[in-house]
Amino acid sequence: MKKLLTIAGSDSCGGAGIQADIKTFSANGCYAMSVIAAVTAQNTKGVFAVQDIDPEIIGAEIDAIFTDIEVDGVKIGMVSNADSIRVIAERLRKYKPEKIVLDPVMVSKSGYDLLKPEAVRTLAEELVPLAYVITPNIPEAEIIADMRIVTREDVEEAAKRIKAMGARYVLIKGGHLAGEPSDVLYDGELFTTFPGKRIDTKNTHGTGCTLSSAIAANLAKGFSMEEAVRAAKAYVTIGIEHGIELGKGVGPTHHFY
Ligand code: PLP
Repeated sequence: MKKLLTIAGSDSCGGAGIQADIKTFSANGCYAMSVIAAVTAQNTKGVFAVQDIDPEIIGAEIDAIFTDIEVDGVKIGMVSNADSIRVIAERLRKYKPEKIVLDPVMVSKSGYDLLKPEAVRTLAEELVPLAYVITPNIPEAEIIADMRIVTREDVEEAAKRIKAMGARYVLIKGGHLAGEPSDVLYDGELFTTFPGKRIDTKNTHGTGCTLSSAIAANLAKGFSMEEAVRAAKAYVTIGIEHGIELGKGVGPTHHFY
């Protein structure tokens, strides 16, 4: 069984973050390990508070895993501040896992800053160069690439700028653009488009976490980058179609339908 590690934030209502990652790894037949980098007080209506975990503990968590266990893939999600980012980057440079999927989580759908805005440059400098693939949505790609994205040409230009920061692959998720949503993968030469469909549901909490974790699981299983994205999109699409009515707000996607 492939052994996967998520370095991310806890979502107390279980729809996003660490909890979504563990469910996704498990549903995709992998063993799940977790380094908790932040704890959120959260439900389907929003995020109410965040406690950063001491960077020293984050470093110790990573050491505990890599000094004992062979890790087949790493997914990085919510890391709330620059000091935590630096510690994670330093450990990953030391232990050198090959397949790192970086989901540059910044703001929750409800509008809460999950990454301190002043830490975005640290993420770009420290974590993007370590990423096998980075999976920004349009607002995240706009911030990392420092440009507005409206057209397909803009998406390609942003992908080029982010690739130039050192990621092996860039996957820009197009759901925030008008029209039929499609995601674009860039490998430094070619752009591959993954068409999607809009699903009429409000229950989309944790979709980004789920997609990036499914990509990490697929890469660990030996899928090519393109196949990993295709299969992960299929997984999250079915999960959204089976979204769960939880609480009074935005419910989560399903993992064990
Ligand atoms: N909470 C945590 C811990 C997350 O990592 C994320 C997203 O990555 C979210 C909340 C946001 O989830 P959503 O924007 O899908 O509601």
